[in-house]
Amino acid sequence: MMVEAPTPSNPPLNWLRVYKMTKIDRHDAIKKISKAILILLDHDERESHLLDWWSIDESNPEFFTLSEQLQSLIASGDDLPSDIDDKKYDELILLALTSSYKGVTNVFLSKKLKQLNIGEYEVSGEIETLMPCPCCKYRTLSVLGNYEICDLCKWEDNGTSNLDTYSGPNHMTLREAKELFAKKTEKLPLDKWVKE
Ligand SMILES: [Zn+2]
Repeated sequence: MMVEAPTPSNPPLNWLRVYKMTKIDRHDAIKKISKAILILLDHDERESHLLDWWSIDESNPEFFTLSEQLQSLIASGDDLPSDIDDKKYDELILLALTSSYKGVTNVFLSKKLKQLNIGEYEVSGEIETLMPCPCCKYRTLSVLGNYEICDLCKWEDNGTSNLDTYSGPNHMTLREAKELFAKKTEKLPLDKWVKE
């Protein structure tokens, strides 16, 4: 009996097994990614995340997800402590990491899981809606006009929407920044964010 050669329209059974990816919810995917990245961070990277998050307080509901020990540590000092390599700060760094994946696409998360050797997963779940950056128009900002820096095009959103007004923090006009962005799109992870 002749055995037919496998083709894309006639895949052998073992092919199907290979391509059937495990499904994962995006929240679980983000947790796995953040935990894997936490281990890889060096001293300076830990410090940078802690600096960004050390001012967290009761006005942010996520503050209460931290242990009581860390809550009181944060509340007791304005300055960043010197023992930042201590594991007791890991939960705050994890919070910083998980927050940084808010609004990113499921495709990007799936790639990241593979890249970090966590596994091949199909990520699903509703993507948190962010605001579109005035420069690149990808949804990267949590609020508008709050001096957040776009993670994709690096425009600092100082609230200007006028194309030809010089923007101090950006050292250029919005029109110039848009032109700059258009030139470098090939090198940027355009699949990380949702376009407006
Ligand atoms: Zn942008």
